[in-house]
Amino acid sequence: MKCEKINYSFEIFPPKKGIMIDTIYETIEKLVDLKPQFISVTYGAGGSIRNNKTVELASFIKNKENMEAITHLTCINSTCEEIDIILEDLKKEKIDKILALRGDRNPEFEDKKDFSYAVDLVNYIKEKGDFKIYGGCYPEGHLECDTYEEDIIHLKEKVDAGVGELISQLFFDNNVYYKFLDDTMKKNINVPIHAGIMPVTNLKSILRMTVMCGASIPRPLMKLLAKYQYNEGDLRKAGIEYSIKQIEELNENGVDNIHLYVMNNADIAKEILK
Ligand code: FAD
Repeated sequence: MKCEKINYSFEIFPPKKGIMIDTIYETIEKLVDLKPQFISVTYGAGGSIRNNKTVELASFIKNKENMEAITHLTCINSTCEEIDIILEDLKKEKIDKILALRGDRNPEFEDKKDFSYAVDLVNYIKEKGDFKIYGGCYPEGHLECDTYEEDIIHLKEKVDAGVGELISQLFFDNNVYYKFLDDTMKKNINVPIHAGIMPVTNLKSILRMTVMCGASIPRPLMKLLAKYQYNEGDLRKAGIEYSIKQIEELNENGVDNIHLYVMNNADIAKEILK
């Protein structure tokens, strides 16, 4: 059944070293103008250096722009003491929403052994304060899990531990997502799920992302990538159109929470919402 309204949210990441921090503030202001339900800020994604920019940007969103902010927080490379410091910073900044994640294993960062899975972080955060906790989920199954079914069992454990909403990994095939929604319902996972949509605008970055997160590229999208691989402008246009079609079809089928991976590009978000 078609939804009356689509609730958008956006994900941004702290700029890498050397990129002017002011640029991201301008991006946030433009994203806020689009009136999303929240903006989330990644933490050390893709193995980047973990620093306090995540909290700083989330605070700007929440306290200067009066917009709901979610801070991503990973645990595999952190000790309890390190997590405590971040939780205290979040409390000081009045940020009460956390996307609790395990984080990817990266040989450059040592596994600190205090936390093994996101569920451990969920339990820990709950002991430490009054936060609303979000979790990640994987419509095609997480790459490290032996089976998709096992991954859903672990997802249920995470929700039972206190995750109130889920944000999905990006996917390009809506049928995969509908099946995932069915399967989560069958396992009594009844929390809201935000569908992760990433507009394809660059061949290299999409290939890197899909390898990292395990999202498959369906034939129609592969054809677009092949057709426009030598023309960045046309690829961007086709990628945005693909996302719009994906969102429209999701909306026709009752999916009303869309999480856009905007890759710090507010113009793309604007084009999609228009
Ligand atoms: P978990 O829920 O812990 O799951 C990880 C794996 O362990 C899965 O295969 C699961 O099935 C399995 N598992 C869970 N519990 C158990 C158990 N008890 N026994 C055995 N196996 C178990 N990464 C970043 O570094 N920074 C970010 O900002 C970031 N943002 C993200 C945002 C979203 C919306 C998503 C979906 C992912 C994001 N990631 C980010 C990537 C994420 O850190 C990786 O996908 C990571 O590999 C798994 O994190 P998780 O929280 O889903 O882990």
